[in-house]
Amino acid sequence: MPRKIAAGNWKMNGSLASTAMVEALAKAFPAPECEVIVCPPFPLIPALVNLNSPFTIGAQDCHFSESGAHTGDVSPQLLKEIGCGAVILGHSERRADHGETSALVARKVTATQNAGLTAIVCVGETEADRDGGRTLKVVEGQLAGSLPDGTDPDALVIAYEPVWAIGTGRTPVNDEIAEVHAAIRDTLEARFGGQGKEIRILYGGSVKPGNASEIFAIANVDGGLVGGASLTAEDFGPIVAAA
Ligand code: PEP
Repeated sequence: MPRKIAAGNWKMNGSLASTAMVEALAKAFPAPECEVIVCPPFPLIPALVNLNSPFTIGAQDCHFSESGAHTGDVSPQLLKEIGCGAVILGHSERRADHGETSALVARKVTATQNAGLTAIVCVGETEADRDGGRTLKVVEGQLAGSLPDGTDPDALVIAYEPVWAIGTGRTPVNDEIAEVHAAIRDTLEARFGGQGKEIRILYGGSVKPGNASEIFAIANVDGGLVGGASLTAEDFGPIVAAA
């Protein structure tokens, strides 16, 4: 069984002082059972890499090009060079705020894996999709569109994040999480054969210390992608322990 993952997405939060939080977490988990991935804003990546913690430091996005005239963007090659191990791609906030399509995410997946980084690809339905009974169709469509030909299953993590559960304190019931994760697993196995069994599928959306153990025990849930509760060691520590 591949190790579970506890991944923190700091979004546009944190400061140089946040290194103290990661130091505290590393002290509490010098050899974590799960893989811990911390994804701060770009400027904080070097400071967190320099802590030499047992954690993978990741980014929250990247461009699909190696270099060039792309003001404000960051290449996966540079992320690799400064010590990143993973990149979150296709987060619903990027799909909504920056108009990212699955086709664009697919180009980023190729570039990310070519640079030697793990792609954490996010999918998830809106509340209107769920109310309209379109959850599985939407998620399967995003998966098909976001995973390009040539995707390396060994450098791939999927995060199922219902958009309506992100930052809201609301979560699907366990059976609903199980249903979507099972469908994602089926899709991955159909696409990658036996290797599809090994791809970690994370749940994201209002994971907290109080619900992490229960959610991580659901079949095909291989850990979590955590936003708000990844910002302090008090909250993220118990979630790491649960994974
Ligand atoms: C996220 O944005 O990836 C996320 C899951 O956020 P939160 O845990 O705050 O719902």
